[in-house]
Amino acid sequence: MAKIIDGKAIAAKIRAEISAEAARLKEKGIVPGLAVVLVGEDPASKVYVSMKEKACADVGIFSDEYKLPVETTEEELLALIGKLNADPKIHGILVQLPLPKQINTERILEAISPEKDADGFHPYNVGRLVIGKPLFQPCTPYGVMVMLKEAGVELSGKEVVVVGRSNIVGKPVAFMCLQQNATVTLCHSKTRDLAGKVAQADVVIAAVGVPEMIKGSWIKEGAVVIDVGVNRVGEKKLVGDVEYAAASERASAITPVPGGVGPMTITMLLQNTLESAKRGL
Ligand code: NDP
Repeated sequence: MAKIIDGKAIAAKIRAEISAEAARLKEKGIVPGLAVVLVGEDPASKVYVSMKEKACADVGIFSDEYKLPVETTEEELLALIGKLNADPKIHGILVQLPLPKQINTERILEAISPEKDADGFHPYNVGRLVIGKPLFQPCTPYGVMVMLKEAGVELSGKEVVVVGRSNIVGKPVAFMCLQQNATVTLCHSKTRDLAGKVAQADVVIAAVGVPEMIKGSWIKEGAVVIDVGVNRVGEKKLVGDVEYAAASERASAITPVPGGVGPMTITMLLQNTLESAKRGL
């Protein structure tokens, strides 16, 4: 039976460390600051934004919230970002996605100063990640790497199979594993023989968005399984991208859904804001 990699517990430990570090910075007169920008009324986005603000308050990070109406123009949003880029109290800027359709998301993300890009989505930061010199690392993959480290998983020389190649999860986590000297296979919807690829893996990282599509029987005995997927099934139930019960029978360690990667994402946003404030010292 697999050991459970407990994202809640790891997130709580990292948040306690962030809180202690934020208190030390406060003694030097520095309060890490995160600006959170929400455009429109998307209910899920509203929930995420309020969770992020609460998480900031809990660890002593100052958060400044900007709630803009759905009809906000690209120019108005760019003007706000310009102001936040120049604000010395702000060390991280987060624009909650998705944006309303009159706004070009790429243009907005590229307007955020790479030195305040708390989500790590700016092409400058993506490039730095690819060359192995990250400034900001995108939060979910950063959280995955912290979980692997906390679980004592050594990646050097290991076969890592990542399923999913999105810019926010699959691609960055693949480069992060490569940086740790893993041999990485990056799979997607056109990959042939996905089951065969997964069966080779010492570590499987699933970021697909299809409920339980990675079957337990594909998992190599003793492999480590990280399930990034969050899929709503029915009214209340959340499941991952991996067939959890069957995979647990074969894996040596596995992340649950919920309570696995999920709690790490906001934690790493806090970490990014803290690191940015420290860089500015
Ligand atoms: P995207 O939809 O952007 O990407 C999904 C990827 O999966 C694509 O690369 C796609 O391939 C691939 N894919 C889809 N179907 C298959 C298939 N049948 N076989 C192999 N590959 C397939 O998703 P995200 O990366 O944004 O998110 C992935 C999951 O992670 C979702 O469940 C999401 O909710 C969750 N998530 C969780 C977070 C957290 O905090 N825990 C944060 C972010 C995401 P192709 O490129 O060829 O289309």
